[in-house]
Amino acid sequence: MGGHDHCSVAGCDNDKRRPTEMIQRGHVQELIFHRFPKDEKSRAIWISQLRKGLANFEWGQETRVCSNHFQQGKPTCENPYPTLFLCPRDFTTPSPKIEGLSVERFLLPQMKSLLLLVSNLQSTYQPVRLTNPPKPI
Ligand SMILES: [Zn+2]
Repeated sequence: MGGHDHCSVAGCDNDKRRPTEMIQRGHVQELIFHRFPKDEKSRAIWISQLRKGLANFEWGQETRVCSNHFQQGKPTCENPYPTLFLCPRDFTTPSPKIEGLSVERFLLPQMKSLLLLVSNLQSTYQPVRLTNPPKPI
């Protein structure tokens, strides 16, 4: 590992040495600094992806890409290459919605406010007393 865990993507300042300043995107479960693949073909694609934001980007042994730039937060069989937030202008675009993860994060605050609403209703509820109860027939 060593002290070289920082992201090489243009405009991304994630660095393990400054953990309080790290930004973790909504689609990422765990922020990790990923090494470039050993396979030269795949590595060439990673390099070309990073050059979208940094035209003169050069790969080195210590170059890392953080989880934010992967569709699934890490290289997977379906999405093996960094494709997200590669240029500073991308940084304002929202994270992709991952099933489960984003739904959970989206629903939770709503559930909380709903529960709060219910408990407020219960505390302010007073049974209505009929002053003139209808006469039984
Ligand atoms: Zn990054």
